[in-house]
Amino acid sequence: MNFEKYFMGKIRSVVDKYGVKGRIAVALSGGKDSMAAFHALTKFKFELIPFYIDLGIEEYSKVCMEYAKKICDILGYKLQIIKLKDYGIDFSKARKKCSVCGTAKRYLMNKFAFEYDCDYVATGHNLSDALTFAFNNLASVNILNFRGMKPVLPGNKDLRMAGRFKPLFYLKDDECMEYVKMNEIPYCKEKCPYARDAPTIELKEWIHEMERKRNGIMLNFAKSFEKIEEMMTRQQKIRQCSICGYPSYGNICKFCKLRRKYGKI
Ligand SMILES: [Zn+2]
Repeated sequence: MNFEKYFMGKIRSVVDKYGVKGRIAVALSGGKDSMAAFHALTKFKFELIPFYIDLGIEEYSKVCMEYAKKICDILGYKLQIIKLKDYGIDFSKARKKCSVCGTAKRYLMNKFAFEYDCDYVATGHNLSDALTFAFNNLASVNILNFRGMKPVLPGNKDLRMAGRFKPLFYLKDDECMEYVKMNEIPYCKEKCPYARDAPTIELKEWIHEMERKRNGIMLNFAKSFEKIEEMMTRQQKIRQCSICGYPSYGNICKFCKLRRKYGKI
């Protein structure tokens, strides 16, 4: 089987298993994975709306945005842009940058997909990311965060929650890279200046090293985690944030807490 067929087949298996269809907001970060996901999804019969979240991380955000625009030009789409600054949050003043980035991206992605009446928001998370995240949580006895180990999570209109779709869930880092190179897809090679801590990178290397010794072990891990996730009953109930009305575990969502900290609400 040629590589392109293999790659598309892995995405199709997610689409078919979960019956993904309709209108999909595609989160572009400018990095190789989200660009590959977007490129591959244009080969399906979806209505796609690509968007970029400008966190305002100095030059890095600008460079990434240029790449997101580039792929949209190539594929004939208009890129929608969301600016964190418009919500009164100044990233340069944030102390826990990775945590602010994570909260803001999750919130704004969902809000965008909900407002554009999309059935799902698609992200570039691949198998390597998913396993690193899962093992990192296991290493910190963080079982609640363990949920989400599924390629597709359904949405809930009443809770203003868009579905989540990870088309690259069964594809490894190097496979995404190969797809990007084969299709000459432009992508940002720079890493975020606040890039992840070393332990996560080490975990990722460890996972890939095992994969080299036992081919297929990564896919099996992912399938096991998917089953565990299905068995786990959700401990915390999702409700609506009392300020913005979007999904929240507590009375007020993390994003509104951030905005409050910056004195905007
Ligand atoms: Zn809120």
